[in-house]
Amino acid sequence: MNPVPSPGRVVIVGSGLSGLVSAVLLAEAGWSVTLLEAHAIPGGLMQRYQRAGRWFDTGFHLLTDGGPTGMVRRILRRLGVLEQVHFLAPDPAAQFLMHVPGQEPLALPIGLVATGLAAETRWPDQAVGIQRFFSLVRGRLAANRWLAHLAEGMAPQESGFPGESVRDVLGRCGVTGEAAEVLGAASAILAMRAERCPFELYATFAGAGFTGSWRVAGGGDGLIRPLVERLAALGGRLLLRNAATAILHDGTRATAVVDARGQRHDADLVITTCHPDLVVAMTGEQGFRPSFKARVAAIPDSAGAFLLAAELSEPAVGLGRRHHLLRLADGSDGYVVAPDAWGEAQPPSIEAMVWLDTAAVAAWRSSTVGRRPGDYVAWKAAQEVRLRQALAAHFPWLTPTIRRTWLATPLTFRDYLGGRDGGAMGLSQDLGHLGDAPLQSRNKLRNLLMIGQSITHPGIQGVLVGACLVVGGVLGKDLHQELS
Ligand SMILES: Cc1cc2nc3c(=O)[nH]c(=O)nc-3n(C[C@H](O)[C@H](O)[C@H](O)COP(=O)(O)OP(=O)(O)OC[C@H]3O[C@@H](n4cnc5c(N)ncnc54)[C@H](O)[C@@H]3O)c2cc1C
Repeated sequence: MNPVPSPGRVVIVGSGLSGLVSAVLLAEAGWSVTLLEAHAIPGGLMQRYQRAGRWFDTGFHLLTDGGPTGMVRRILRRLGVLEQVHFLAPDPAAQFLMHVPGQEPLALPIGLVATGLAAETRWPDQAVGIQRFFSLVRGRLAANRWLAHLAEGMAPQESGFPGESVRDVLGRCGVTGEAAEVLGAASAILAMRAERCPFELYATFAGAGFTGSWRVAGGGDGLIRPLVERLAALGGRLLLRNAATAILHDGTRATAVVDARGQRHDADLVITTCHPDLVVAMTGEQGFRPSFKARVAAIPDSAGAFLLAAELSEPAVGLGRRHHLLRLADGSDGYVVAPDAWGEAQPPSIEAMVWLDTAAVAAWRSSTVGRRPGDYVAWKAAQEVRLRQALAAHFPWLTPTIRRTWLATPLTFRDYLGGRDGGAMGLSQDLGHLGDAPLQSRNKLRNLLMIGQSITHPGIQGVLVGACLVVGGVLGKDLHQELS
C-alpha cells in the first residue's frame, strides 16, 4: 500500500535534474511543492554559471538516448518542456572519437550495430568476439523496459551479470588486447574503469550512449531553465540559497523539513536528491537503520573530476560535433568537447576533464572556497599541466589557440554542491561498492524517498528515468506506459 496521501504537501531537497523532474511531475498532479536548494543557482551538476563575463557548465551534457524518438525526449514531452529544449545532433559518422595512446583514434558512428561494425573493421581478427559483446549489450538494453526501444528485434538478455565487470565480459566474449582496451575505455563516461565498472551499468549507460549522444543548446541551463519555468507555471515554490538542515520525523514518518533559516516546512512526503550521507545526517539518530547508515559510510564517493574550461583564439573546428574520450599517457581517462562546434552561438572554447580519485584532494578537505593553501594551488597547477600535455599530445594544433583557462577540482564540486568528498556521480557505483546492489529509495521512514544519481542510476538519462519511476510509484501511475 502506498503510505503517502495523495496529493498532499511535498518538500524536495535539491534542485538538480532529479529534484526538478520530481517537482514538476508532482505539481502537475496537484501536489503543493516546495523545492529547497542550497545553492544560489538551480540545476546541481547541470547548472550554468558566469565568471568574468563567461558562461561555464558544471558537468557535461552527453545525453545518452537523446535521439528524436529516445526516452529523454519522451520524458521531456511528458513534463511539458520538450518544445523549449533545443537538441544538438552529434556527427552521425563519428559521434565518439576514442583516443588511446599509440593507436589511431577510433571513430564510433551513431548506432549500436554501426558501433560494433566500426570495431570489427578495426580488429577483424576479433570480429566474432566483438559481435558477441555487442549482442550482450543490446540484449541487456532489450531487457530494460525504459531502454528496450534501443534494441528492437533483439531477444532480451534476461539473466544478469552479477559481479561481472566490463573487462570480465569482454574477456568472456574473447575480446582482448587493443580492442578490449578501447571498448572498455567507454566505461569512462560513467567515471569508471573497465575492470571495476559493472557490465549492467555499461550496457545501459554506454550502450544507450552508442545509440546517440546528443547535447542541448545553452549547456545545462538549456535543460534546467525550462523545468524551472514549468514548475513556476504550475505553482511550485523553488527556494534558492535555502539549504535543508534537518528532516523531522516520529521514527516511522517524516513530518517536516527545516531549512537553514530555521523555517519549518511541514510535509506529507519528503524527497531528497542530495548525497545520501547528507540525508543520513539530516534525519539524526533514528532516521535510518544502523545497517543502512554503516553502508553509506563505508561506500566511498565515485571518481571526481578535474575540469578545465578554456577560451580559445579561434574555434577548435578539428574537434567537430563529437565527444572525445581520451586515455592519458599515465592511464587515466579524460573527455574533451568544443561546445561551439555543435552550432552553439558562443565564443570558441573547449571543456576538458580528467577523472581522478577524490582522495587526491584529501589533504585539503578542511579548506574552503577562496582560502585554499599554497600546496593545493600548486597541485591544481600541476593537474592543469598534465591535462594540457594530454591535449597537446592528441590535438597539437589546439595548444597555441588556448588563451585563458578556468579550473575546478573535486573540492570545488563538494563546496558548491554539498556532496561528501566531491565525487562526480555521488556514491561509487563500482563493483565492490554499489555495483549490483543499489541503495533502496524507500527506507525506515516510509514517506521519505531518496532519488538522484547515487540511488537510482547515474547520468542525465539515468536520473530522469529514476525520478519517473519513483514519483510514478507515489502517483500510482506507470509513467513508462504513458510514454510508450
Ligand atoms: C564533470 C561531470 C560531467 C558529467 N557529464 C555527464 C554527461 O556527459 N552525461 C551524463 O548523462 N551525465 C553526466 N554527469 C552526471 C550528471 O550530471 C548527473 O548524474 C546528474 O546531473 C545528477 O543529478 P541529480 O539531480 O541526481 O544530482 P545533483 O545535480 O547533484 O543535484 C543535487 C542538488 O542538491 C543540492 N543540495 C545538496 N545539499 C542540499 C541541501 N542540504 N539542501 C538543499 N539542496 C541541497 C545541490 O546543490 C544540488 O543542486 C556528469 C557529472 C559531472 C560532475
